[in-house]
Amino acid sequence: MEKDTDLGGIARRIHYTLEGLDVQAYLRDVIRKVYRHPLIHVFHNAAITDVFGYVGNFVTTVKSDGRVEEIRHGATILATGADVYRPTEYLYGEDDRVLTNLELEEQIAGRDERLMKSRSLVMIQCVGCRNEDRNYCARICCGQSVKNALKLKEINPRIDIHILFRDMRTYGFREDHYREASEKDVKFILYEPEDKPQVQAVEEGGQPALRVTLPDPILGKKLAIDADTIALAAAVIPASGNREISQLYKVTLGPDDFFKEAHVKLRPVDFAADGVFLCGTAHYPKHIPESINQAYGAAGRALTLLSHDIVTVSGSVCEVKENDCVSCGACITACTYGAIEFRETPQGRKAWVNPVLCKGDGVCCAKCPTNAIFLKHFTDEELLSQIDAAFPEEEIVQQFDAAVGDA
Ligand SMILES: Cc1cc2nc3c(=O)[nH]c(=O)nc-3n(C[C@H](O)[C@H](O)[C@H](O)COP(=O)(O)OP(=O)(O)OC[C@H]3O[C@@H](n4cnc5c(N)ncnc54)[C@H](O)[C@@H]3O)c2cc1C
Ligand code: SF4
Ligand code: SF4
Repeated sequence: MEKDTDLGGIARRIHYTLEGLDVQAYLRDVIRKVYRHPLIHVFHNAAITDVFGYVGNFVTTVKSDGRVEEIRHGATILATGADVYRPTEYLYGEDDRVLTNLELEEQIAGRDERLMKSRSLVMIQCVGCRNEDRNYCARICCGQSVKNALKLKEINPRIDIHILFRDMRTYGFREDHYREASEKDVKFILYEPEDKPQVQAVEEGGQPALRVTLPDPILGKKLAIDADTIALAAAVIPASGNREISQLYKVTLGPDDFFKEAHVKLRPVDFAADGVFLCGTAHYPKHIPESINQAYGAAGRALTLLSHDIVTVSGSVCEVKENDCVSCGACITACTYGAIEFRETPQGRKAWVNPVLCKGDGVCCAKCPTNAIFLKHFTDEELLSQIDAAFPEEEIVQQFDAAVGDA
């Protein structure tokens, strides 16, 4: 399902990676394979309007190119990606010499004439995140800035490049490229969030320039750098449709509105809801190789599921004693997995637990005012019997007597 007219997502705007991957060639090849595969059906301009069902038995309604179709599927992979922050700071949108990193990359790839003539470029990191509104690091922008700086130095070794950063997060082997950029005379200058760089459009000797001023903590002085171009490391932000998708597939979002995996180490591509998997920047910002690796992981998990004819679920699930149910709906509201629904019975509307969706956490049992709902293998009778067996009545009486005696 692709909501856009073309496949490829944000990678359509990325031309190369720090590792040297030709992104456009890679993308063309993958897209060609997808269209040629007889078992892959692509829906363009797709909007998912309704989803029901559960692991092994989903039904998704999709509106695509004016048609509405119901698709039956056993597993779902959410790979809805992320959006790019549109800066409101540093004259972005007011002066066309101020670009985002992505726009800079597009200009480098297209050998933009004005950029090629630039003698000085300033990059400002952490734009639109690591602040009160978005308190997370977008992870990829430091690598992207180093990548663009190295590419520009390769084209024009004399270009003067300053990267104004809070922390350089070129994690993993990207650290080597960070070092390479320093060796190629890219200057890295630390700035503090409470004393951010200021950007002004000025004229210097009759020539227009963008003046960036900031305190240099090492020199202990204020610096002024005149640049022909400014590139902003604009944050990667959660896709605007995440909330809607999370409600449709009953999966959770983290505090930053990216999708949240079931367990960061043990189930990194699963959701708590069975049969729904996750990959790419829908999860959090990550570089292309990381997205591809995670996509293999999600595909593997989905295939493991689809290779079975039947789904085996836990025996420890809830069940409703219909005679005792008064149809109050408290259990339905309490269940975070959407496992309970009302069904018409000869005795009227009664709660019913879908054993495939139930995770057996027993929250509904605690809410039921008439004890109509119970968790198999953890009924009140079983638990009370276990307590009685662990602490026989005579023992408790003896312990009580001893305690009274001591007192
Ligand atoms: C600004 C920016 C710069 C980057 N720079 C680099 C870089 O220099 N090097 C690097 O290695 N990585 C970079 N990345 C990361 C890289 O782009 C990602 O790792 C990768 O492209 C993520 O792929 P994806 O499929 O998860 O998401 P996306 O590429 O965002 O694709 C998601 C797709 O899902 C579609 N979609 C979304 N919602 C729906 C919906 N509800 N229904 C149907 N379709 C939907 C979208 O239209 C899109 O086609 C950058 C990312 C960003 C945002
Ligand atoms: S990756 Fe770098 S520029 Fe991006 S938010 Fe993190 S520290 Fe800032
Ligand atoms: S909480 Fe109990 S009584 Fe109310 S609908 Fe659920 S099972 Fe029935």
